[in-house]
Order: sequence, then C-alpha cells, then structure tokens
Amino acid sequence: MLDVKNMNFWLFDMDGTLYLGDILFDFTIPLLEYLKAAGKKYLFMTNNSSKSVADYVKKLARLGIPAVEDDFITSAQATAYYLEKHHKNDYIYVEGTNSLKDALKRHHFNITDQYSEDVTCVVSGFDTELTFQKLEDLSKLLLNQDIAYIATNPDLVCPTEYGYVPDCGSVSEMIYNATGRRPKFIGKPSPLMPQLAMEKWGYRKEETIVVGDRIYTDIKSGINAGINTALVLSGETTKQVLDESPDKPTAVYKDCGEILQLLKT
Ligand SMILES: [Mg+2]
Repeated sequence: MLDVKNMNFWLFDMDGTLYLGDILFDFTIPLLEYLKAAGKKYLFMTNNSSKSVADYVKKLARLGIPAVEDDFITSAQATAYYLEKHHKNDYIYVEGTNSLKDALKRHHFNITDQYSEDVTCVVSGFDTELTFQKLEDLSKLLLNQDIAYIATNPDLVCPTEYGYVPDCGSVSEMIYNATGRRPKFIGKPSPLMPQLAMEKWGYRKEETIVVGDRIYTDIKSGINAGINTALVLSGETTKQVLDESPDKPTAVYKDCGEILQLLKT
C-alpha cells in the first residue's frame, strides 16, 4: 500500500487537482506549505504548450499559489528534452506559439516557421496563433516520410472560461486526414515529463508520485514512467469512470485534502 509520507517528489496536475477553473481548493495552499516544510519537492506538470512558464507563474499567483518558473514541468520542456535526445541536429519546422518557439530556441535548436525543403523534423504544439498557411506547410512537409513528426500534447480540447477550444490533438487529427500521418506525442500520457523531472531534479522512481484528476493522461503518464500514482476525484474522473478503466492508480483519494490529512497523521 502506498504511504504518502515516503514520497519525496510530487508531480501535480493543476486543474481539477489543485483548483477547479478559477476556484482554488482550500486545502491546496496548506498541502503545498506542508510539503515544503517537510523538505519534499513538488512540481506543477502541464500538457499546455501554448503558454510560457512565466504565464503560468502569473496564473497561479492570481489564484493565490506562490510559484517560480523552476516549479514547473511543461510539455514544451519535455519536447525540448526529447528533441535533444533524438533530433539534436535537425532543421525543425515549429507549428506553435511564439512562446513555444522561444522555448526551443533557448535550447539552441535550429528552428524555422517557414516552409523549406531542408526541414527534417516537424514539431506541432497547442497553437493559439494557428493559420491556414501553417496547416498547408505541415501537409506539404509531412508528405516526405523521412521527416519526423512530433507533437507536444495529445489533448483534443483545452478548457476556457466559456467552454473548450481545439487543442494540439485536434490539429493532429486534421493533419492525419490530410497526410495519413500521426505524430509522436510528448505530453501526458507519455512518460517523458515525469522522466525528465526525475532526471533533472535527481529523484528515484520509488520516491516519486504523480497526482492528478484524469486517468488517461495524468495517471497513465505515471504508470508509463513506472512511478506511483494518486488519482483525486475532485476533477474530471468519477467513481464509475475509475471502476471501468483498465488503468488503475496506486491510490485513490477524494481530493488533495485527504492526502494532506494522511501526511499529517
Ligand atoms: Mg486536471
């Protein structure tokens, strides 16, 4: 059985786990303060590749969660980590926001946002600056089967204050319809974000846990990375969804407040 007291490295999903939309759960600050005081390390883990980490720091500050840039692990960072390992010397066409391009430039990748026959790799992100020209570029480039195709996150939609907007996974579907190609996805449920986090901050699998409200992304990324997983029922997942899912978390809690209680006892 999982003893949360033995967990030293905490990877938190945000929406549905630490807050819901614009409403902060009342146990979130006490939990984060407790972990910090106990000498544990935590990170906020997000699939969203459209925002820069600086934007996330501001968003959490608005909700009342104190955070610095180093407290985050994003799919943009994990994409850079993957490119570093597999496409270091490629000429990379980036279909994504300026903030994604800046993040990749900081890692010294050779990137472009213009169609070129010299391109050897395509990276697609959650692109809130999408144009038809970019879709056309991707459709043309990916006809060449030698060009690698990577996408930051498989989410079909991204929640907004009024409902949903199409996310990276939906654009990938459009490109699939046009080219028959599907990308390698980097964000949750792939294990790359937890793996990068453990490597960068120096923690072992046994002492690492991912906490989230979605089985098919958060929990699956933890299972795929071979680490502990805690599902909280404060967001998207109902008891029925959990019962029907073939993927089982290491532990299930009502919410992070229950985790805080267990840490304190
Ligand atoms: Mg969530």
